Amino acid sequence: MDLHESAAASGGRDSSREHGPREYGVPLDAASARARAWLGGVFERPIPAQRSIDEVKTALGRTLPERGSDPAEVIERLADGAEPGLMASQSSRFYGWVMGGTFPVALAADWLVSSWDQNAGMRDATPGVVGAEELAGDWLLELLGLPPTADVGFVTGATAANFVGLSAARQHVLAALDWDVNRAGLAGAPAITVLVGSERHGTIDLAARYLGLGEPTAVASDREGRIIVEALAEALEKITGPTIVCLQAGNIHSGAFDDFARAVRIAHDAGAWVHVDGAFGLWAAASPRLRHLTAGFEGADSWASDAHKTLNVPYDCGIAIVANPDAMHTAFGMRASYLQNPDEAEPHDKVPELSRRAHGVPLWATLRWLGRDGVAALVDGLAESAAAIAAGLAELPGVTILNDVVYTQVSMAMADDEQTLELGRRLQQSGEVLASPSRWHDRAVLRFSVSNWATDAAEAARTVDAVRRALPGL
Ligand SMILES: *Cc1c(COP(=O)(O)O)cnc(C)c1O
Repeated sequence: MDLHESAAASGGRDSSREHGPREYGVPLDAASARARAWLGGVFERPIPAQRSIDEVKTALGRTLPERGSDPAEVIERLADGAEPGLMASQSSRFYGWVMGGTFPVALAADWLVSSWDQNAGMRDATPGVVGAEELAGDWLLELLGLPPTADVGFVTGATAANFVGLSAARQHVLAALDWDVNRAGLAGAPAITVLVGSERHGTIDLAARYLGLGEPTAVASDREGRIIVEALAEALEKITGPTIVCLQAGNIHSGAFDDFARAVRIAHDAGAWVHVDGAFGLWAAASPRLRHLTAGFEGADSWASDAHKTLNVPYDCGIAIVANPDAMHTAFGMRASYLQNPDEAEPHDKVPELSRRAHGVPLWATLRWLGRDGVAALVDGLAESAAAIAAGLAELPGVTILNDVVYTQVSMAMADDEQTLELGRRLQQSGEVLASPSRWHDRAVLRFSVSNWATDAAEAARTVDAVRRALPGL
């Protein structure tokens, strides 16, 4: 009698069901086989999902079962039902949004994280994962050229990392005016101005909203989406109260970087806290060839990034870095006693979560596997492929490249919006290449975000070729 039958025989309550370590083997073998099959075909399958949510629900089975079932059968049903509804975002020709693929070593480490099921919130309780995370954090600061005294928190993504940076900022700029926001809240507090470039990522606005800071004040950006430093200086001159300036490393349409050296200096001269959203752009600092793009960013006060984008670690791996650990620990610490000895700050004193998975362990594995030169080669390779795609597309009839391709982003347009949208639809239908339809500078664009480790020169050429084949008649 298998588990399913025995469960059925006892009315769903299986007193004979074994509860022990041997239970893991069968479903894990099933999952491993299905994962290998998925990964083995993911570069060549059609990129867009082929099944709707409704169809997925039907395939999975809509009714809550009365009785339990065999675990391997559950895994098979899940894979059979869900896989046709998955997007092949790990494909070497997937350029949608800004999404990285998955390095094999990062995925394997992530499986271990799930298997170990450690709560990474507490140092002494789970030294195995906290040790790996702390090393990953230290290595990251070294690799990016950020202050070694900064503290690193691991979160789910750059949205959460922006929230962490702005939380520390809010705490600090109010404390400087003797306002203890933890105790007194925001009602009656000096009003904080959050200055952002007009092309910041929307998650900066979300972070400000979550923190009760209201809508940020936009400062004009230039054609590439970089904050105009003179406009920032003018805006700062008009402000008398506490101020947070948000800069950007990597604009999603152009890949452009703000002029950190100048912007950080004038913001600091005005007494402002400077936060940098570098979800995918912070990694430029790891490349000797691209590091110039981030020059001066190390002078900021907080930084947000993702390892699940450029570094090709699986979801979810966000990184929050704060130069002044006190501000971070005061914003998130549960107990004031940690503040007396910052070395004793717990992982949960740096981020909003108390209990969480060990997001930083796959990052450790990936940095260990790539090494310093491997990270540089990864970032350089993405930028080279972006440049190759832009150069190839620029030769095609009717195609205009709209941005200065300095990093991993390419935005292109046809003569009019309808043609651009139609090209996007044709590419989508081909299943071979996926670029994001978007709007930039008041026109429809197709955005190629080169974020996958496997997008090499050959895949870049194949991408251009797929666009060439989609053009006739446009
Ligand atoms: C992706 C992105 C974010 C949000 O990151 P998540 O990991 O999706 O939370 C923030 N800023 C920029 C510039 C991004 O590209």
